[in-house]
Amino acid sequence: GDGDSVSITVVGASGDLAKKKIFPALFALFYEGCLPQHFTIYGYARSKMTDVELRNMVSKTLTCRIDKRENCAEKMDQFLKRCFYHSGQYDSPENFVELDKKLKQHEGGRVSNRLFYLSIPPNIFIDAVRCASSSASSGNGWTRVIVEKPFGRDSESSAALTKSLKQYLDEDQIFRIDHYLGKELVENLSVLRFSNLIFEPLWSRQYIRNVQLIFSEDFGTEGRGGYFDNYGIIRDIMQNHLLQILALFAMETPVSLDAEDIRNEKVKVLRSMRPLTLDDVVIGQYKSHTKGGITYPAYTDDKTVPKDSLTPTFAAAALFIDNARWDGVPFLMKAGKALHNKRAEIRVQFRHVPGNLYNRIIGTDLDLATNELVIRVQPDEAIYLKINNKVPGLGMRLDRSNLNLHYAARYSKEIPDAYERLLLDAIEGERRLFIRSDELEAAWALFTPLLKELEEKKTIPEYYPYGSRGPVGAHYLAARYNVRWGDLTVDQ
Ligand code: NAP
Repeated sequence: GDGDSVSITVVGASGDLAKKKIFPALFALFYEGCLPQHFTIYGYARSKMTDVELRNMVSKTLTCRIDKRENCAEKMDQFLKRCFYHSGQYDSPENFVELDKKLKQHEGGRVSNRLFYLSIPPNIFIDAVRCASSSASSGNGWTRVIVEKPFGRDSESSAALTKSLKQYLDEDQIFRIDHYLGKELVENLSVLRFSNLIFEPLWSRQYIRNVQLIFSEDFGTEGRGGYFDNYGIIRDIMQNHLLQILALFAMETPVSLDAEDIRNEKVKVLRSMRPLTLDDVVIGQYKSHTKGGITYPAYTDDKTVPKDSLTPTFAAAALFIDNARWDGVPFLMKAGKALHNKRAEIRVQFRHVPGNLYNRIIGTDLDLATNELVIRVQPDEAIYLKINNKVPGLGMRLDRSNLNLHYAARYSKEIPDAYERLLLDAIEGERRLFIRSDELEAAWALFTPLLKELEEKKTIPEYYPYGSRGPVGAHYLAARYNVRWGDLTVDQ
């Protein structure tokens, strides 16, 4: 009810994610009036800090949206007054009892709802959950826990993590976060498909030739490779973010927009997919490259990475969904660090127009003549459709033009960060954008055999220069399925 309180504890509040994303997102929600009237935020970590020191730390990363700058300072002040800090160990029930006492004081006898955000390394997830649930969970309201990736590193470790979490929590208390699901254009995928007549009827093997899910970063690990080296790009980006987008893209129409209905459909897609094989994967690692007098480092130049590391910083893969809708359609994924640009996008390449009257005019390059729908998730959000169009004039010449929905031009609003959406959903108990344990299990089942094989065979990655378009192997992989990567041609 309206009189209930919500206490949000950021476990690992001294860390990078808390500073960069969680506190700024909580402030944005406060500013928008989305937090309940009676809320308190606690930072929890081992570092010694006073409330004032936490507020100083947090205040440095808070920002107001461009259109909301007037009483920004005042709002920040109000927000910071609701933030507190408790120093403790992650495995100490006593320290969590102390936290519980402080939370109770703020809750002042109201119904207490408690949200714990685990922003800590995965090896201490279970300790923290055990202590939070035994010593600081709510007595009369709900208790929920947001868990950050990585959820294990293969099927076995992920199952073990789920099993341990379920010793202390019910499935409906666990909110596994994949922040890609909180991104505006990923959420829009279902709107695009299910509320526009012109897309859904085309959404199958009958009209779609291939689907591409592309993620690239234009920087490397830059001294922070310690965590990454243990996981690699396949676990860091593909098995979670890109696969989640694929599932939303390819799922059947859900019964309703309810979380369970949507997640049921996502699991069905994942379980209809063929596990990946080494044949359908290319891995790469960036090497040093000198350009314009600047030398960019190799992955293994990162001091936190072993010199002989074979960890992939790039991967491309072809996946298949063995169901009636998608039989034979390649879903190509590509993800990499230290590439020539920074973006995340979905590309849908449609089939050729049968018996196209204009073939001779378009020329022999049929590949270029097909329609392509591009959903650019980040940066500079956009949805555009590449079409063949007559160049105005007396002659008959065709070119490729875009029907373009460019978010910055169409919507003057700044787009909220994914963490805002997801935190708000967790507070409201909306589970649609969080990963259910059976989804996670199905996702790992697809990638685990491949990951094991790569590691057992010590597969050597294909080296590509820092700042390049990635290994050529990715082109051969695509070519095997008659696909050309859409991001490597020029979009008008
Ligand atoms: P972090 O800065 O490395 O760790 C957060 C806090 O945990 C630290 O400030 C530290 O606090 C405590 N901690 C670190 N190592 C520990 C250890 N070995 N034993 C006990 N406590 C330790 O992590 P982060 O980058 O904020 O990320 C938090 C979680 O989010 C991780 O699970 C990460 O995988 C995930 N994640 C991060 C990002 C990102 O952009 N950073 C993105 C997606 C997911 P005290 O020393 O004060 O206790």
